[in-house]
Amino acid sequence: MKAIRVHDFGGPEVLKIQQMPDPKPEGGQVLVRIKAAGVNPVDTYIRAGVYARKPSLPYTPGTDAGGVVEAVGAEVKRVKVGDRVYTNGTITGTYAELTLAEESRVHPLPPKISFAQGAALGVPYGTAFRALFQRTYAKPGETILVHGASGGVGTACVQLGRASGLTIIGTAGTDKGRALVKQEGAQHVVDHRDQDHTDQVMAITEGRGVDVIVEMLANVNLAKDLTMLAQGGRVVVVGNRGTIEINPRDTMIREASILGLILWAATDAELASIHAGIVAGLENGTLRPIVGHELPLAEAPQAHKLVLEPGSYGKIVLIP
Ligand code: NAP
Repeated sequence: MKAIRVHDFGGPEVLKIQQMPDPKPEGGQVLVRIKAAGVNPVDTYIRAGVYARKPSLPYTPGTDAGGVVEAVGAEVKRVKVGDRVYTNGTITGTYAELTLAEESRVHPLPPKISFAQGAALGVPYGTAFRALFQRTYAKPGETILVHGASGGVGTACVQLGRASGLTIIGTAGTDKGRALVKQEGAQHVVDHRDQDHTDQVMAITEGRGVDVIVEMLANVNLAKDLTMLAQGGRVVVVGNRGTIEINPRDTMIREASILGLILWAATDAELASIHAGIVAGLENGTLRPIVGHELPLAEAPQAHKLVLEPGSYGKIVLIP
């Protein structure tokens, strides 16, 4: 099979396409023929060698894919050869033609969801679900600010939140991104590049503030986020690329909470719950992943540049 391999941590140019032996499933493992692989910002941090979790070299990047079951180990019970599936974490990486995964990391992909959409689920929808329902416990009727709503996690938050009875304010940095956020269900859209976007959020909530903020760039926004929270509000830090000074008093007067989120900390039981919720949403049509760019597998270096650029529009996927 062809696969992208990383032999040294570094810039996007270290992503090289190579011929590799086909993996073989054993025991509870599933071999998936990949039709599309999701590109997540975390893949770039790992490739650069700056992430807390470093794989041993060489490795094939990627956790998320949509594809078809090619072969199964003797102990596999839930999926069979020929099933359409998506993955959320694999043993051999997803920037490849084939990937080997534990059965618990392979989920059914409903017929109306494309393979490229299947590649948009694992990290983005998993993170959005955890942010709303396992960290902030957002409740129907509450108002939520999705701070960075135009990308992979953001569009997932908007769709999940809307389907759950939340009022959604979504932000994006471009007209195209804001149109997408509105189209996916946000009742209000705001430009996070606008200096007075905090005032706009306060005006939308008639001065009350929002109950929940899902924050994609905490090092830029966290201090202002604390001033936009309603009494008892919660902000969950999903994305962060630096440091920031905050005034802790802003949490005291609102009895507000700052929560961290790292998807890798989800237990097997939590992941099972997350993917049961995602599959149900795909089946009932409330979850419709947005794929903004499809690139050939060999263009993984370009995909890694693109995923860090402003002007997000849903998900970037690689097609083997
Ligand atoms: P993405 O598809 O690249 O989207 C990035 C989002 O951030 C876009 O909506 C972008 O909007 C927005 N953004 C840019 N500047 C912003 C600002 N000043 N304020 C608010 N939002 C801003 O990335 P993603 O997959 O959605 O992931 C988002 C972040 O969460 C990344 O940093 C990623 O590493 C992190 N993440 C963390 C976890 C975890 O376990 N903690 C899991 C998944 C993702 P425009 O492009 O329209 O400006």
